[in-house]
Amino acid sequence: MQNHRKSNSSLRIGGLPKHFPRVHALIAGTAAFMLSLAIIIPTPEVAAKRTPLPVNLSAVTSTDEPLPTPAPTFTPAETPLLNVSVEAVKSLSLQVRNGDTLSDLFQRAKISAKEMYQLLGSGSEAKQLARLAPGEELTFQMNNDGQLQSLKLQRDRLSHIEFTRTTSDQFEHALIQREPDSHPAYRQAQIDSSLFLAGSDAGLSDSLIMEMADVFSSDIDFALDIRKDDHFSVMFEEQFLDGEKIGNGPILAVSFTNQGKTFSAVRYVDNSGDANYYTPEGKSMRKAFIRTPLDIVRISSHFNPRRLHPVFKSRRPHNGTDYAAPRGTPVYTTGDGRVIAAGYSKPNGNYVFIQHGERYVTRYLHLTKRKVKRGQRVKQHQVIGTVGSTGYATGPHLHYEFLVDGRHRNPATIVRKLPKAKSVPASEMIRFKNQTQPLLAKLENFQGPALAQLDEDNP
Ligand SMILES: [Zn+2]
Repeated sequence: MQNHRKSNSSLRIGGLPKHFPRVHALIAGTAAFMLSLAIIIPTPEVAAKRTPLPVNLSAVTSTDEPLPTPAPTFTPAETPLLNVSVEAVKSLSLQVRNGDTLSDLFQRAKISAKEMYQLLGSGSEAKQLARLAPGEELTFQMNNDGQLQSLKLQRDRLSHIEFTRTTSDQFEHALIQREPDSHPAYRQAQIDSSLFLAGSDAGLSDSLIMEMADVFSSDIDFALDIRKDDHFSVMFEEQFLDGEKIGNGPILAVSFTNQGKTFSAVRYVDNSGDANYYTPEGKSMRKAFIRTPLDIVRISSHFNPRRLHPVFKSRRPHNGTDYAAPRGTPVYTTGDGRVIAAGYSKPNGNYVFIQHGERYVTRYLHLTKRKVKRGQRVKQHQVIGTVGSTGYATGPHLHYEFLVDGRHRNPATIVRKLPKAKSVPASEMIRFKNQTQPLLAKLENFQGPALAQLDEDNP
């Protein structure tokens, strides 16, 4: 019979102080951890591999005496067992430096190459030891004879993998995942000169500002519509580990007032586990078109309210919207569609025309480079070219047109009228309200006193 038991790692962690955050232990074949995922769901395959007890503790003890089999569930009373065994083991932690190989680290730990190959040969998971990144930490545990008993690879603060000797030439592994504590955080800001400036003054990271702009990307043109005194409030998750902030989770609820009109959105995780943003009434924030055909980071990171308005309106007749932007700024298609023209002409310079469904066409002129070909299918937000000044253009800008049934229309007014992506189905409405109303109430609570304060300061 093969002795190939997997130990329940929560047993080992159980000996740590009580205030330790919740620890998730997975015995996993392959488990790529993503920082953004707060919830780790073991796949059925992974779950099936969990055969926690009885536990073979010989790996962490220096005695050959048989140990009592622990009870099927962990209780704090078992902790002393663990402490006894840990004392008998020598431990050495080494940081992976630039250019280090696994054998360098084994040499530094004074463990034989034979044991290293034993470990590497113990299964496919051990192969990842051969791909070390600088800054990662390896912790070797040896018995009194200097034989490797376990090796822990700390990938990042949230995850480590531990290899533990089970027999004279076998190692088992455990992937241990910690879940950060999440708390809602709130920020609000009033825009003076730039969305990014206001956001960072309020303590928001650029990626959170981008995330917020993305939520409203069908309602607000963040390149042209933003005005002084526009304001927003946003509630998002902050993630902590051992009391220290390690990152941000998603935006939970957000409201943005643009030129006196307030848009609100709330995050909802639907029946099938997909998270999307909706209006408080359950209408999707995603629409057939986004408002800004440009990478707004590049333009609004240093916008000046006076420069916001179209600069290049001298050419008549003018049927589109002009976005002044640095040469090379990525240009997006504002909706899913098919490229019906991509070429060069004297007035247009490099241009791309896109057909969306039966009725809509968008046009993008004066590009430095075209990144799509005629006939190609494109997805909303896909880069189709870069800003330039080819054709009749006095400086680098994007000339953008929106046509409905062949007639030029103002994208600002037409896009808001277009049908939205599917709303929350009636059957899911109670679930939607139950999940989102507390979030919206919290956002409003945060907002209430803070905004009153703001009014007092700026009558
Ligand atoms: Zn123009």
